[in-house]
Amino acid sequence: MSEIPYKIYLEESEMPKQWYNLRADMKNKPAPLLNPGTLKPMTAEELGQVFCEELVKQELDDTTPYIDIPDEIRDFYKMYRPSPLVRAYCLEKKLDTPAKIYYKFEGNNTSGSHKLNSAIAQAYYAKKQGLKGVTTETGAGQWGTALSMACAYLDLDCQVYMVKCSYEQKPFRREVMRTYGAQVTPSPSDTTEVGRKILKEHPGTTGSLGCAISEAVERATSMEGYRYVLGSVLNQVLLHQTVIGLETKTALDKYGVTADMIIGCAGGGSNLGGLISPFMGEKLRGERDYQIIAVEPASCPSFTRGKFVYDFCDTGMVTPLQKMYTLGNNFIPSANHAGGLRYHGMSAVLSQLYHDGLMEARAVEQTSVFQAAEEFARVEGILPAPESAHAIRVAMDEALKCKETGEEKTIVFGLTGTGYFDMYAYENFNNGTMSDYIPTDEDLEAGFAGIPRFPGNMTD
Ligand SMILES: *Cc1c(COP(=O)(O)O)cnc(C)c1O
Repeated sequence: MSEIPYKIYLEESEMPKQWYNLRADMKNKPAPLLNPGTLKPMTAEELGQVFCEELVKQELDDTTPYIDIPDEIRDFYKMYRPSPLVRAYCLEKKLDTPAKIYYKFEGNNTSGSHKLNSAIAQAYYAKKQGLKGVTTETGAGQWGTALSMACAYLDLDCQVYMVKCSYEQKPFRREVMRTYGAQVTPSPSDTTEVGRKILKEHPGTTGSLGCAISEAVERATSMEGYRYVLGSVLNQVLLHQTVIGLETKTALDKYGVTADMIIGCAGGGSNLGGLISPFMGEKLRGERDYQIIAVEPASCPSFTRGKFVYDFCDTGMVTPLQKMYTLGNNFIPSANHAGGLRYHGMSAVLSQLYHDGLMEARAVEQTSVFQAAEEFARVEGILPAPESAHAIRVAMDEALKCKETGEEKTIVFGLTGTGYFDMYAYENFNNGTMSDYIPTDEDLEAGFAGIPRFPGNMTD
């Protein structure tokens, strides 16, 4: 076997030509989206009022294992892909561990995260359908930035509802989006009915992702030639993000390396789903086993403390119902939570896999996450996004376990992005003023109370 370089770069020609649809290999498929009015599965026609046609097809396709990536999308990918798979030699040395650590770095584009992989795909299909533009929400701002970049490239209008506290805390994120031509509105706003209603019921609210989603959906459906796009959670987004996992697998195979453990942070589940898909596929087909770990914030613990039930994807209850691990659509993490990954629900695909015992989940506290982030930054050079640092935390914990047991495990984790726009959070940590808050059972009950009740759902 040839020596493993610090960075494994693939050739452009080794970039995947197809996305891999994990659902095709799942015995227990994710439950269908339901129309909240009729409680019947959403039809393609109903979904087509909100989403682009081709994306609806991808959303509903549980059987086609490989879906061609159009050349136009591959051409865009070539500007920043293939992304490197890095052997974390320096971190291994620092931890003095026999474990072999690799990370797939998705932060080498201006959006600073993996989100561009799906943004360009969604914008492409919107353009192909002849639409004028798209609307969306953004929390920390990475998704809005990614979508603005994709829309600028394809000359589409882009309207972004940005969670108000982020809009105020991250003015530069907002400015990057405007630089790419997007119109950015703090949410909740008075530009939509649902926004006005939320403002009336919760004056002074700093907003949430669920609430921004409601506004963006309303905006898209009330304007001719617009559709709504979403940066995580949906099956189509996981599908696009499989370029991460496919490249990772190609790079490992090239050097004859087999992963024992694959770790990723989980907000709505798109990077994790994309990273693990080809490996989970092998696992589902009985070809090989991997330990797969989702990492989430202890302050927003959808997998580890949520309920596996149907819930709305947004606070305003305008979206379809999705069966997923959820904390309740009106759950908002405590105000001191700084590390991203604050969505109340989780991808239906990952929820089903977790429910079936095919992957694990861990919840970590934010101070330990920022500790890991700084340790990583100081030896590996990259200043990680707080979201990504959740995965770093658990990768380091596992590597330290190997130090105790002497096991030479191969650990692969997803380094989803960079944290330059998160310096208030880093400042807080550096000043020693960051605290941890773990919601009590009573806090969580308040969120669960907002989950819709109907026969077979939340009836316990
Ligand atoms: C959005 C984001 C995440 C979380 O989203 P997923 O859909 O769970 O992947 C993680 N890391 C970064 C850098 C992000 O921007």
